[in-house]
Amino acid sequence: MSKYQGSCHCNAVQFEIDADIESCVQCDCSLCKRKNAVMLRIPKDKFRLLKGEDALSRYEWNTRAAKHYFCKHCGIYTHHQPRTRADMIGVNLGCIDDVDASKLAVERLPGSQLSGGR
Ligand SMILES: [Zn+2]
Repeated sequence: MSKYQGSCHCNAVQFEIDADIESCVQCDCSLCKRKNAVMLRIPKDKFRLLKGEDALSRYEWNTRAAKHYFCKHCGIYTHHQPRTRADMIGVNLGCIDDVDASKLAVERLPGSQLSGGR
């Protein structure tokens, strides 16, 4: 497993993950569609927020089970707590400069099919 460091655009939020990045996830729910984010799902304990706890804002919608975190200064989505998996965390691969997400296999999540996901 490798260590990767990620950050929002203004660097207020910085995090580190342990992962083998072989594929990524894209979701078609109304929120992800707008963010157009390429994500990675990892166990929660593989994610460490290094900096920026106070710079993070949280967005909740629909059932409010999922927690979507973004930097309140630059607006960049960094990670989220998924609605269906409390033990996992979703990370924005675009925040990690060492990863070229365009070279990864994409798993498509049918988020729009979840209740209220549209
Ligand atoms: Zn920022």
